[in-house]
This record gives sequence, structure tokens and C-alpha cells, in this order.
Amino acid sequence: MADDPRDHVFTLYPYHDVVIASGEGCRLVDTEGRRYLDLASGQLSAALGHGHPRLVRAAQEAATGAVNLGNRFFGQATLEACAEIAGVCQEGLDRVVICSTGSEANELAVRIARAATGHRELVGVRRGYYGATHEMLSLSEYVGFIKGIGAVSPGIHKLPCPDCRRCPLGLAPETCEARCVTQAAGHLREDSTGAVAAVLVEPVLGSGGVIVPPPVYLRAVRALADEFGALLVADEAQTGLGRTGRWMGMEHAGVVPDVTVLSKGLGAGFPVAAVITSAGVEARCIAAPLANMSSHSFDPFAGAIAAEAVRTIRDEGLVARAGELGGVLVERLRQVADRHEILADVRGLGLMAGVDVVSPQTGELDPMTSLVLEAECLLRGLVVGYSALSGVLRILPPLVITEAEIDEACGLLDEAATHIVEQPLDLSRYLPSHTGSMQLAMGFLNQLAGS
Ligand code: PMP
Repeated sequence: MADDPRDHVFTLYPYHDVVIASGEGCRLVDTEGRRYLDLASGQLSAALGHGHPRLVRAAQEAATGAVNLGNRFFGQATLEACAEIAGVCQEGLDRVVICSTGSEANELAVRIARAATGHRELVGVRRGYYGATHEMLSLSEYVGFIKGIGAVSPGIHKLPCPDCRRCPLGLAPETCEARCVTQAAGHLREDSTGAVAAVLVEPVLGSGGVIVPPPVYLRAVRALADEFGALLVADEAQTGLGRTGRWMGMEHAGVVPDVTVLSKGLGAGFPVAAVITSAGVEARCIAAPLANMSSHSFDPFAGAIAAEAVRTIRDEGLVARAGELGGVLVERLRQVADRHEILADVRGLGLMAGVDVVSPQTGELDPMTSLVLEAECLLRGLVVGYSALSGVLRILPPLVITEAEIDEACGLLDEAATHIVEQPLDLSRYLPSHTGSMQLAMGFLNQLAGS
């Protein structure tokens, strides 16, 4: 009997039975010829959709040249990428490192901060997510399936989550003056050695459930970083490069960080990330000095793709388009949510939207229902962002999505929500047939049932 190729994949995730054969724009096609509308941009990365002709050409050309140079020479494409990236960053942020993934970029941002400040401790945000390396997981406080990993590195502190609808102080964002952050600064003075190297913040918390902080929060975080002599690192993995309707998510709050981290959309599906800082911070790192080693920093192959991704976003006017279509997306999602008790708050910034899936009985986030809803959407040919058991549907479509595709997606979401409310729950519709995936899926479901 022929081998099942899935037997050679280490089952890290509960994969669906679907095997994707190809993609074009916002569409994916599986090996059976079924088509899917991808509202998740793959893993929130395929910002230009699948198979964008300009990216295909750039990748083909790059593959025929010098693909990897190590740390001895600049590649021409790398220089182009650094200039393109610096050109769309906020004022003063014009020193660029090209690397591979968001986690790696955040690690480098932290090392830059430690070298520049001579401090060690780190501050993140509750429900923030910064990556899957040892230290980034320590800093991440995640709802969902990695909860319980907890802090494994010392000297890690957390700011309150800017989920203003559930403000523990009972304040309103219009008048609160970010008292949660000023209070946290007080605790930090008591709990830390005072030697904070970096404060990492997502301009919109993505994995934590698409939480849009009010501008006053981000300004207060800027002030907190300054008070401790720390660098403010804006993790723009999800928000950067037009996603929110501005080149950088931080622009909405008028806050300029010391370091910006880009990944995901920067490679438009290819693993490229960047760390961008100022000449001043670079000078402090050169004096420190900062040690860095990677086989793939500044790869010209990656550089060629990043440069073309930035140029394409600019040439196609996708930043302004994300702002405009984002309004349409949230409006249409609200129309769907109005028809279903299980769908509550809809919010977003540009083409980054979140929909709370709640229990009609308690009004609380309901990860199990959200999981079933995602699976039911998939059966109807709609891929929504993997909520990782957070109870929030994340909708981050490719920036090239059309209004007609948004309407189609909302129609499918509506049908899926109607189905799960009207029909008795039948998990066998969704469980993968492959043994490892099935076991993992069951493990997640048991974890949910027990929590
Ligand atoms: N930061 C943020 C805000 C992210 O959303 C992610 C990925 N979800 C990362 C960092 C980590 O990026 P990567 O998975 O490429 O390491």
C-alpha cells in the first residue's frame, strides 16, 4: 500500500484533511479542486495574496543570482531592500537589518536594546505575542493553546492589556489618561531593578484577539520606556506595511518607537523579517558592541523579495486601500454579527478585524464555539484566521482583497454561524482523519472542555 505522505510530517498542529495544491490572489485550491477564500493571508503573511505576478518574477530573478552571501558582502538586492524599508518607516528609523522570522527579529531587537542601554530586563503586554523562541515565549502572554508555558526567562514584566471594554479600573479610554500604564510604571519601579532594556508592544494586539489600544495607551507606553531609559520596540509583524491603513500601525497613535520589527507581510509569504532602528541606536550598538550571528541575515534572495513586496504595496496603493476597505470589512462583519447571538463585538483597524465569538448564556468569549465556527467556515470554503483557541475570529485578508470577495466571505460566515446554532454539534464533521492530527485536535478539545 502506498505510504501516506502525511506520515512523514511531524504533527505539530492538528492539520485539516485538506491539502492545498495552489493559490491565486485570495483563493486557495485543494488537491480535489475545491476552492477556498483565504481571509487569513496564510498565516497572516501573504499580504499580496498568493502567486502575485510581481513577487513571482522577483523570486525567479533572485533565484538565478547570488542567493546567500553570509556576513562578508552586501548583496545588491539587500541594499535595495534596506532602502525601500527605511523609506516607509517612521521618521529617524533608517538603519535596517534583514533576517528571517518575526521571532528572530524580536530577539535581535531585544539584543539591540540590551547593547544600547546596558540594561537586561524586558517589558511586554498582557495577551501580547512576540514569537516562539524561548525568550519571546516568556514575554508573550498568550491566551489559547500555549497558555501555561509561562515565563521561563528572568526579568520579564507585563503591562496591562489595553482591552478597554474590560478595563479593570472601570475607566473609559476617552478620559482615562492611560492610568493602567501609569499604575504599572509604579509597580515596575518596585518590582524591577530599574534596568529595563526594552518595552515591546504590538500597535494592535493580534494573537491576543485583535485588541486595538487607544492612542493614549501607546503614548503612555512611550513615556514609560523613556522613564526607564529603555527602548520602545514596536512589533509590527501583523500591523506593519499597510495592514492598518498606514504604513506602520504606530502612526495611528503618533508614536515613534526606537525600534520597529517587521515580518509576515514583508516577505508576502516568504520568510523575511526586518529590524529597523535609528542611527543613534546603531552607534550605541557599534560602541557596545553587539554580537550577532546568522546564516541568513541580509540574504540577497530575501532582500529581493522584501524590496519588491514594499514596492508593490506602494505602487498598487494598498495602504490607503486597506484603510478604505477595512471600513467596508468591519461594516459587513457587523451586519453578520447583528444576526447572530454568538457573534459579539466586531472591531478592527484597516484590514485587520476581530470578531468575538461568545456564549449567548454568559456573553463571555467561547473558544470552543469559535473553533467549531472556524471549521464550519472551512467546510464552506472560507478560511478565517486561526484563533488558537482565543475565542476571537481574526480576519486579516490579503491586502488585494476586493469588496466582492468581502461580501462573499461574509455570506459564508453567516451560513456557517446559522448552521452551528441551528444544528446539533457533530464533531465528526470537523475532526481530521489522520491519526496524529486527530489526537492533537482531541487534546485541544479536552483542554478546552477542562478549562
Ligand atoms: N510578533 C507578532 C506580533 C506575531 O504575530 C508573530 C507571529 N504570529 C510573531 C511576532 C512571530 O513571528 P514568526 O512566527 O515569524 O516567528
